[in-house]
Amino acid sequence: MSRIVCLLLLMLSGCGGDSVAESPVAVQQVYFDVQSKRAVVAEASTETPAVHPETGRRTLMPALYCTQCAAWRAAPPLQELQRNPQARLCPKCKGPLAADGPLPATGE
Ligand SMILES: [Zn+2]
Repeated sequence: MSRIVCLLLLMLSGCGGDSVAESPVAVQQVYFDVQSKRAVVAEASTETPAVHPETGRRTLMPALYCTQCAAWRAAPPLQELQRNPQARLCPKCKGPLAADGPLPATGE
């Protein structure tokens, strides 16, 4: 009997650390910071502009990636995208913009 209790205690203590890992992980998204004109990675938000994690100001617009310029561009408003297919093109090279791309480098 005492052996079973001992095993139970081992199992319980062994599982203790897992509860933290099960908490939902914040989804990261690439945004275009209209203030610094740079792409930043921040917690995904349903509100736009989203809050910049460093300044705390609402300056983050969803970003789209241009593979030709290898740069993130600020995504136009959704209404603009629906009205004008040309809006989803890179303002510099007119190349197609993608929703996914390499994460921007943090810092300088
Ligand atoms: Zn481009």
